[in-house]
Amino acid sequence: MTDANQNPLVGTTVVAVDGPAGSGKSSVSKASARRLGFAYLDTGAAYRALSWFVVQRQLDPTDSAAVIDALSDFDYRIGTDPDGYHVLVGSHDVTEAIREPGVTAVVSAIARVPEVRTHLTELFRDIMRHTERPGIVVEGRDITTVVAPDADVRILLTASEEARIARRSAELVGQTPDNVGEQLHRRDKADSQVVDFMNAADGVTTVDSTELDFDQTVDAVIAVVQQQRDTRDAHV
Ligand code: C5P
Repeated sequence: MTDANQNPLVGTTVVAVDGPAGSGKSSVSKASARRLGFAYLDTGAAYRALSWFVVQRQLDPTDSAAVIDALSDFDYRIGTDPDGYHVLVGSHDVTEAIREPGVTAVVSAIARVPEVRTHLTELFRDIMRHTERPGIVVEGRDITTVVAPDADVRILLTASEEARIARRSAELVGQTPDNVGEQLHRRDKADSQVVDFMNAADGVTTVDSTELDFDQTVDAVIAVVQQQRDTRDAHV
């Protein structure tokens, strides 16, 4: 049996990107995937879709047993084409709905449940294994450390809290910067109790986008990918 049969990810370049809310992770990862000709996986969308499902079923998001129970009926699909992004739960297209404040407000409580994390991590690995493109950019909070600690390229995308609040405020119409700042701070605080995405783990390259515009940040991510490729090629 060849290595490729034992591990379908052999030959697929995995680029893992972690970072806090408002770091530009999603849009930068998507644009980087597009430029590299890779697939793109937004793992936060799965936590959001499960939260949408829990809200839809009128379950208490802090009731772990009810959330775990809901997992068995959670029929989730996500597109990995950076140009055809969509999120489905059953037959519902929830691409827009999972960005609603009502979903964002409960997602940290749901993401804290260990059974949820294990279930979704398996789902992400399965999606990564079935990638038909030469590589995949996977973004979230625990990709470099838990979901794909052996990824070819591991990046922590950061930005100062001021920069992140300013970017989020520009995206969210009708909310004051104070409001956005408070929500962002609260979510980061809750999320960082579960996984550390504020500090780079060993072997993870930090890209600080505070002083960079969008295109410069994508360039910086691509440069890290290229650097890893050059290092790898020098060793074969
Ligand atoms: O990235 P995004 O803001 O869409 O993520 C939504 C939420 O999903 C985060 O606030 C976090 O609670 C959870 N999440 C996570 N692990 C990931 C991705 C997202 O816990 N890998």
